Amino acid sequence: MSILLVEAEREGFKRGRNLDKIGMDEADTSELFFEDVRVPMTNCLGQEGMGFVYLMSELPQERLSIAVSAMASTQKAFDETVAFVKERKAFGKTVFDFQNTKFVLADIKAKLQVGWAHLDWALNRHYKRELTAEEGAAAKLWHTDLQWDVMDKCLQLHGGAGYMNEYPIAKMWRGARVTRIFGGTNEIMKELIGRSL
Ligand SMILES: Cc1cc2nc3c(=O)[nH]c(=O)nc-3n(C[C@H](O)[C@H](O)[C@H](O)COP(=O)(O)OP(=O)(O)OC[C@H]3O[C@@H](n4cnc5c(N)ncnc54)[C@H](O)[C@@H]3O)c2cc1C
Repeated sequence: MSILLVEAEREGFKRGRNLDKIGMDEADTSELFFEDVRVPMTNCLGQEGMGFVYLMSELPQERLSIAVSAMASTQKAFDETVAFVKERKAFGKTVFDFQNTKFVLADIKAKLQVGWAHLDWALNRHYKRELTAEEGAAAKLWHTDLQWDVMDKCLQLHGGAGYMNEYPIAKMWRGARVTRIFGGTNEIMKELIGRSL
């Protein structure tokens, strides 16, 4: 496998439709067609036959970057929710005043503390080029699972408002669904970790 650079003007290259996703509205995901496209040898990136090795060697970084953005959006969902429940009133109190709300948020707060510490550890290893493929996979698995769990709990604390696109939590919840899928699904992350045991 080799990595080839294909300029959009090359004959045989065509863009298809933008796919209609359930979230990440801000990012286009489009069909791309490459039909009998020819490129000169100078369009080969790096050494011929080394494409797979190049792609594999950058996977821990890609997976760590997904973990970092998952953690950031988890924190944002938490911050939004704390602000919302302190504002919203039900049965003569704020939603924050219910013990269940505080327990759910306290549990998330504890996980955020652990999650940020784990990312510091993983980033330090990455800067030293020591982060292994399994550690990158574990970071992607854990942080995106956390993101989905927290996102759903935060939406629940918004009540009906959480289901309305005008509230940021609704968009964040839709956008979060894909992170356990892209970058390799979380089942594949478990496969990778499992193989290394
Ligand atoms: C919005 C979006 C953006 C994307 N961006 C990119 C991108 O920029 N670059 C890129 O390269 N790709 C991108 N992808 C592709 C993404 O990485 C793949 O969709 C993902 O890796 C899953 O592959 P698949 O869709 O072929 O699912 P499939 O492989 O068909 O999986 C279907 C189901 O089977 C399970 N499964 C498959 N194999 C196994 C196994 N061995 N053991 C157990 N379970 C298994 C999966 O976990 C999943 O639940 C993007 C996808 C989306 C939705």
